[in-house]
Formats: sequence, C-alpha cells, structure tokens
Amino acid sequence: MQSIEHIDEIFRLLKKELEQYRLPIVSRVEGKEIIHTPFTTLMSCILSLRTKDEVTELASIRLLKKYNTPEKLIQLPEEKIQSLIYPVGFYRTKAKRIKEISKTILDNYSGEVPKNTDELLKLKGVGRTTANIVMEYGHKEQGFIPIDVHCHRIPNRLGWIKTENPEQTENALKKILPEKYWGDFNHLFVLFGKTICAPVSPFCSRCPIQQYCKQIAVTKNR
Ligand code: SF4
Repeated sequence: MQSIEHIDEIFRLLKKELEQYRLPIVSRVEGKEIIHTPFTTLMSCILSLRTKDEVTELASIRLLKKYNTPEKLIQLPEEKIQSLIYPVGFYRTKAKRIKEISKTILDNYSGEVPKNTDELLKLKGVGRTTANIVMEYGHKEQGFIPIDVHCHRIPNRLGWIKTENPEQTENALKKILPEKYWGDFNHLFVLFGKTICAPVSPFCSRCPIQQYCKQIAVTKNR
C-alpha cells in the first residue's frame, strides 16, 4: 500500500484541534436529544442536504424525537412533516421523500433500514454519501469512507490524491489511508472543512497540519 507521510501525526493533530467542536447530528452515534438508529441517521441525512448543521439538528430533533420509526412517520400528513422540518432547504420535497422512503422501508425491507450500500442506493433521494453515512454511523459498520465536499477537497489540497469527484476520492483513499483511520476520516474532515480548511479561503495561518500540506490549488488563504 502506498502510504501518506506523517499520517499518524496528522490524525493526532486534527483530533486534538477538533475535539472542541460538536459533531454534526448525522455522524453522532449517541446523544440525549434523539435515539440514534439507522433510521434516524438516514432521516437526518435527508434533512441535512443543502442545509446548515444547526438547522438540520433542530429539525431532526423536532421530527425524530417523537416520530423515530417508519411506522410512525408514515402516519403523519406531509404538511405536518413540512411544519416540523421547516426551515431546512427544500422542506416540501424532503417531507415527500421522508414519506416515500418510510413507505419503501416498510413495504420492501420489513421496516428495517437495509444494511447494504446497494440496497440503500435504491431508496429515492439516497446517494453514495448518505448510503455510506448510514452504514458507518447508523449501522456502525466498518469499511466505509463517506465523502462529502470537504472530504473530497481537503485530501486533494494536502496533495494525498488527485481526483475529480467524490467517488474517485473514496476509491483513492481506500488505497492509501490505513484502515484504522477510515472510521474517523469523515467526521474529522467535515469538521476541519467547516472550521479551518474552508472552501474558498482556508485559515492556513492557524492550521495545525500546515507543515504537512502541499496547498494544492489554494490561491488565497487567511
Ligand atoms: S494548510 Fe491550508 S489548505 Fe492545507 S490543510 Fe491547512 S488550512 Fe487546508
């Protein structure tokens, strides 16, 4: 396996820097606001698309504190779901999706969220990132690296990989990232992208891993 130089130190520094921040609700495996199950992880992921973490979190709690199974959600009128999840982005479409997915899970999977990426991808509105998040944080299975925009951008900036899209990134990382870091990669790099290695102008001056970064395609930074 091709290796990433200083990988142990990089993960150590990132964990230390990022422990002050709260994980997004989609990557929490426990908490007191809602019971975390594969189904609630899946629902939070649907709510999170194009929506800020804080808004996703509050909407997830309003919806899933009480209606945390497909059986319960299918009973709710779409308008009620809309009012519970507002103001997440595309709340009308998401309310519809939530009902559709709940029905499919009840009809085709005996009420259980499938524990299989290919089956998850058959659910309407579920893409590869969501499927991998459900496998990793919902089912707590190993061997998955969910890749969102941050997880795609940052390893390219660091100079670890040279990829064009999240799927290529997932495959490339699986070849060079030691498996012991797969489980931490998504939530660490999402937090890192939101707080320091920002999309347009990263905060390189306060980056804990600057000495290990090639800053590929970084044209301006702070
Ligand atoms: S040095 Fe800058 S570009 Fe590199 S990882 Fe840190 S914040 Fe991102």
